[in-house]
Amino acid sequence: MNLRCHLIDALPQPGGQCSEIYPKKPIYDIPGLPEVLAGDLVTNLLEQIKPFQPGYTLGERAETIEKLEDGSFIVTTNLGTKHHALVVAIAGGLGSFEPRKPPIASIGAYENGKGVYYFIKNPEDFNGKKVVISGGGDSALDWSIYLAEVAEEVYLIHRRNEFRGALDSVEKVRALAGEGKVKLITEAEVVDLNGDENLSSVVIQFKDKTKEEVRADAFIPLFGLAPKLGPIADWGLEIEKNAIKVNNALDYQTNIPGVFAIGDVNTYPGKLKLILCGFHEAAIMIQYAYAIINPDKKFNMKYTTVNGVQGFDGTKKEAKKAEVVSL
Ligand SMILES: Cc1cc2nc3c(=O)[nH]c(=O)nc-3n(C[C@H](O)[C@H](O)[C@H](O)COP(=O)(O)OP(=O)(O)OC[C@H]3O[C@@H](n4cnc5c(N)ncnc54)[C@H](O)[C@@H]3O)c2cc1C
Repeated sequence: MNLRCHLIDALPQPGGQCSEIYPKKPIYDIPGLPEVLAGDLVTNLLEQIKPFQPGYTLGERAETIEKLEDGSFIVTTNLGTKHHALVVAIAGGLGSFEPRKPPIASIGAYENGKGVYYFIKNPEDFNGKKVVISGGGDSALDWSIYLAEVAEEVYLIHRRNEFRGALDSVEKVRALAGEGKVKLITEAEVVDLNGDENLSSVVIQFKDKTKEEVRADAFIPLFGLAPKLGPIADWGLEIEKNAIKVNNALDYQTNIPGVFAIGDVNTYPGKLKLILCGFHEAAIMIQYAYAIINPDKKFNMKYTTVNGVQGFDGTKKEAKKAEVVSL
């Protein structure tokens, strides 16, 4: 088809729920794969789409959509990145995963690069820094272990004595604490943040309500992610039960021509929220997307066994920008 697709995801990696919620869980209902770990399925899918050279904007949430006079769209992210495309395919699943924030009144003042981080996009940003991590799950443990090697100082603060993460990681963190590489403080929580423009210290409150202020360049609260339909809910789409209504009799298009919705985010009579169904909907949807993008061309479907895998031909003149933006 030689269509170019660009993926926007609010998470720092592609793969949606499979990567974020259950990468180590085996899946048993993907055709042709009797058993596959969700994370491995995503790895294989990324390998399979490589020849088509998709673009990626990760760690940014699609915030607004604007329809231009020529029928194309501009999708803008929360960081202001703009994508121009002829077709938009919303594959937003349960919505964008928003970080669960601790109830600290001043937290907003240090977001957006001023010291509070809910995701770690570039671990090297913390080299030589004083870092305070908060949380008791795998992310908090894994990042404490990783950053113990590169940061100047790592605190791990957790409300309880017990951790929810993998036993092996818990043991590693406790061993690092024994070596003084991680300052492990349990039955305590971060209750306040201080600084001028940027964060300079956090206040830790212990079980007995006493407090201690420690210097910090970064505070990383890792309390998990909560899915929310988020900004897509304001795009003028027809929504039913927190999902986008689509025309499943034809093309999975929404009430806005040129905007499709596939996967868990859509709804129609008989909808099943399964990975297999998302694949099927994408295959149908893209035929109609092709017709919008190439109104003068007839598309003849061919099996890959006949055609082979024809990767994206980036040398073609018309292939310069993304034609389909997907999120
Ligand atoms: C524990 C668990 C086990 C499961 N087991 C199975 C199974 O065995 N078999 C099966 O078929 N299914 C299973 N599922 C369901 C399956 O994971 C979903 O059907 C599938 O992930 C849906 O894929 P999707 O791409 O539609 O959405 P998602 O995987 O939810 O991905 C949506 C992506 O869109 C992003 N996004 C949303 N809004 C925005 C925005 N505004 N800007 C940028 N990005 C945005 C999100 O960050 C997310 O990464 C399971 C689900 C769970 C939770």
